[in-house]
Amino acid sequence: MRKTWNFSAGPAMLPESVLLHVQKELFSYKDSGMSVMELSHRSQLFQDIINKTEQLLRELMDIPNDYRVLFLQGGASTQFAMVPMNLLSDIGKAGYAISGSWGRKAYEEAVKLYGNQIQVVADSSPSKHTVIPTIDLLKETYDYIHITTNNTIEGTAYQTIPQWENIPLVADMSSNILSANYNVRDFGLIYAGAQKNIGPAGLTIVIVKENLLKSNRVIPTMMNYQTHINNDSLYNTPPTFSIYVAMLTCRWLKELGGVKEIIELNKRKANLLYETIDVSELFSSPVEKEFRSLTNIPFGTTNKELDSIFIQEALEEGFLHLKGHRSVGGMRASIYNAFPLEGVEEFVAFIKRFEKERNVQND
Ligand code: PMP
Repeated sequence: MRKTWNFSAGPAMLPESVLLHVQKELFSYKDSGMSVMELSHRSQLFQDIINKTEQLLRELMDIPNDYRVLFLQGGASTQFAMVPMNLLSDIGKAGYAISGSWGRKAYEEAVKLYGNQIQVVADSSPSKHTVIPTIDLLKETYDYIHITTNNTIEGTAYQTIPQWENIPLVADMSSNILSANYNVRDFGLIYAGAQKNIGPAGLTIVIVKENLLKSNRVIPTMMNYQTHINNDSLYNTPPTFSIYVAMLTCRWLKELGGVKEIIELNKRKANLLYETIDVSELFSSPVEKEFRSLTNIPFGTTNKELDSIFIQEALEEGFLHLKGHRSVGGMRASIYNAFPLEGVEEFVAFIKRFEKERNVQND
């Protein structure tokens, strides 16, 4: 059995039962004599896998029928370009809320393509993204507003989703899809890389309200949502194995009780860690309490060297990938859906031990 706890921001832990299931079926999927990796994407067996994955996602997120679910490649980063290519009209404008580094990247990519048609409608840079900024539309109208629901690097998350009449909201949900209780109807388009909460890297999920796609510009075939809609995500070879593991992960989540249930578990995990950090004299969290993410928790001491020692000692005890993003420093614990409560309990005990040892040394 595995003896490590992986706090990576992504690719991240997958449920142990899912990995064991994959292992069991690795050589021969459903007596086909082939691994899923070897199945044709045009075979009935694979068709059943992709259909089931979509059905489970629809159930878990309560996705309405007028929204399409697409299984794409290229990571969330490719969506930074696809969103404006497909949703921005020739003379329209798009508003971007910059609540962290990924939101800034999405904005910069859109500017690269469409220049001053792209505007900033909120920016938390002055507070180093320790809060979620308020969006101000300044009486402008936009083809869409883009937000990042959970800021993976900075550890903040939208607690309520902003809404405007007739302006669709586009959300990068890469780091809290399936772990926040959002209403799909509040969004025109949702996208997420799979490698945090859904499955292995290589798969990007897009959930789009079909009637939003009215751009008539020339879009490269693979960058056009319509291509993938018209071909049920099988225009070219999709990431078959990642979709298969996503199916198993979605089934695992459904059996656990779905998103509502996992949120309760995620709250217990996050609260345990936040409480430990908040009472600590050595560690602190840079994020304002009301905006704290349940899935990505940055923290640190005031001393870079001590942070490095903490990360090293944690590693020796089997707590992996705790180094904070280079733009924030310190530590970051990413605890997505598949990260077990037990791992957080052990980690909290380690934090307390570490602090106690420093206090003894300083006495
Ligand atoms: N957006 C967010 C919020 C992310 O956390 C990440 C990856 N960490 C990305 C976009 C980029 O995703 P990808 O690597 O799939 O392109």
